[in-house]
Amino acid sequence: MDFREEAAAIAGELIALRRELHKIPEIGLDLPRTQAAVLAALEGLPLEITLGQSSTAVTAVLRGGRPGPAVLLRGDMDALPVTEESGVDFTSEHEGTMHACGHDLHTAGLVGAAKLLAAHRDELAGDVVFMFQPGEEGWDGAGHMIAEGVLEAAGRRVDAAYGLHVISDMVPRGVFTTRPGPMMAASSGLFVTVVGKGGHGSRPQTTLDPIPVAAEIVTALQTLITRRFSVFEPIVITVGTFHAGTRHNIIPDTATFEATVRTFSEEALAQVEKESVALVEGIAAAHGLTAEVRFEREYPATVNDADEAAFVADTVKDLFGEGRYAEMPEPIMGSEDFSRVLEAVPGSYMFYGATVKDDPAEGASNHSPRAAFDDSVLADGAALLAELAVRRMDRG
Ligand SMILES: [Zn+2]
Repeated sequence: MDFREEAAAIAGELIALRRELHKIPEIGLDLPRTQAAVLAALEGLPLEITLGQSSTAVTAVLRGGRPGPAVLLRGDMDALPVTEESGVDFTSEHEGTMHACGHDLHTAGLVGAAKLLAAHRDELAGDVVFMFQPGEEGWDGAGHMIAEGVLEAAGRRVDAAYGLHVISDMVPRGVFTTRPGPMMAASSGLFVTVVGKGGHGSRPQTTLDPIPVAAEIVTALQTLITRRFSVFEPIVITVGTFHAGTRHNIIPDTATFEATVRTFSEEALAQVEKESVALVEGIAAAHGLTAEVRFEREYPATVNDADEAAFVADTVKDLFGEGRYAEMPEPIMGSEDFSRVLEAVPGSYMFYGATVKDDPAEGASNHSPRAAFDDSVLADGAALLAELAVRRMDRG
C-alpha cells in the first residue's frame, strides 16, 4: 500500500467533490444536499452505511479481511452563516452561507480515505468506521452521532479515533500539527438578562436602569478572571453580544448580553460557572435590580492521548518527511466537538495547513468571509487518514 501515490491518483476527483460541496454549504444538523453528495461519492464501495436519525449524519463501516482493532476516522461536514468573499470561482451558491471553516475539505478527504482503504479491504486487519458528521459549529453533531452509536458502529467499541482540521492561516501549507494532552479548550456560554424598570431618560431616579448595571457586570467578569484564577490557568471570557434599548432618551426595562467562556480544567470550569453566576446576580442585586442568568456547558476540552499524538507525529514524518510535521507549542482556546469522541476513546486530533498564501500569516483565518483553503493538500490529508488507520490496526 502506497497511500501517497494512490491518493495522488484520485486527487482530481477529491478536488472536484470538495468544490461541489463548497458551492452548496449547509448549516447545522440538517445537511440534505451534502449528505446526498457524500452518499453518491461512496456509491459502489464495500461499506455498511447507516444514516443519522436526529441529523443527516453518515456512518460507514469498512470490514477488513482479517480480524483486528476498530479505528474511527472523522470528517465534519457543516458550514457557517457567513457571506463568502473568498473570490474562488466555485464560490457558495447559498446566499449567506459559506464553508468558511474548510469542512468541505474534511468531507472530501474522508471520502478519499474511504476509497483508499476500500481498495485494500482484504489486507486490512480490523475495521474502519468513517464518521461523516454534521453540526460541528455549535450543534453538537458529535454528541448526536455518539448517542446513535457511532462508536459501536463496527459491532464493538472503536479502539482509536483520529480527526483532521484544515487551517487557512498560521500553519504553513501541507504541514500537520498536533500535541499530546490538551489541544483545544472547553466552551461554555453565559447568557444574561439584567431586569430593571424603564422610564424617561431624563429622570433615571424614577427607574431601575439596567444598562450601567449590565456594563458594570461585563467589566467585572474580566476582573473575575484576573483576580480569582491563577495566571497559569488558561481561561477566557468574551462578551460577544450586548443589547439594550431603542432610543437615547428612553431607559429600557432590560439589558441582555451573551459571553463565551473557554477553559481547560474541570476545576476552573466548575469555579467560573459558580462565580460568574454569583457575580452577575450580586452586582444586579447591589443596584436593586435582578438578573436572569444561565450558564451552559457546550463542548468539553479536546484532549489527545499522549501515545496516539506521538503515533500521529511519527506517521506524518515517516510518510511525508520531518519537514511536514510541527509540534503545536501550546493549546488553542478554540473548541471542537470531536472532544466528545476523544473523551470516550483514545485518539488524536490534528491541524493541517491549507493556506493559499506562501506566508501563512497573510492568510484570512478560518470563519472569515475571505478564508480560502488550498485543496491541493487534499490528497495528502486522505493518505494520512488511511495510513493512520492501517498502522493503528496493525499495532493490534
Ligand atoms: Zn471547523
